Amino acid sequence: MASFNPHCQSCPRLVGFLDQIKTEKPDYFNAPVDAFGDTEPKLLIIGLAPGKHGANRTGRPFTGDASGHLLYKSLFGLGLASKAESRHRDDELVLKGVRITNAVKCLPPQNKPDTSEIKNCNKYLIDEIKMLPEECRLLALGKLAHEAILRAYGLKLSSRKFSHGSEHKLPDGRILIDSFHCSRYNTQTRRLTEDMFQKVLLQAAG
Ligand code: URA
Repeated sequence: MASFNPHCQSCPRLVGFLDQIKTEKPDYFNAPVDAFGDTEPKLLIIGLAPGKHGANRTGRPFTGDASGHLLYKSLFGLGLASKAESRHRDDELVLKGVRITNAVKCLPPQNKPDTSEIKNCNKYLIDEIKMLPEECRLLALGKLAHEAILRAYGLKLSSRKFSHGSEHKLPDGRILIDSFHCSRYNTQTRRLTEDMFQKVLLQAAG
């Protein structure tokens, strides 16, 4: 377990990749992206990793690219966000009872972290979960986030199967809810519709 480290260098491939992006896009955030939102949440939402032109640009999870569009719009619709759109870190958006983080805090090439990187970064997720109020629920956006949560609890990946809308009891009594990731790909192919996402968010918000 470890507290979020904005200067983390645990993953050589990701450090090298961020160095490369820094030369291409010096005005981007280009660093580990911390969790955002309520510090005493009722719901922790866990995504995959910062998107190149989204969270890696702005420094806030799911902010500045299409992936966050449906997420923040839906949170706003449920009264859980003060605005329907998250644009940048200084836009004064406030989340109410919700916190958002990623399984991997640094931008991975092709949006695909290696297993070793997921494992290295898991210490931060463990810490984030430890800091949650007892009753807080967890919403995994995608299978990778689902598995990162199982790892954080020291559970076998086969012990709880990822499936959209399913609920899993965790060893500390908390509930993990699964959703397909709200990526542009998933929404464009209609694997995840707006309606499906709003329903699962409502389910997770309890
Ligand atoms: N941006 C994030 O912060 N996380 C994701 O999973 C996707 C985009």
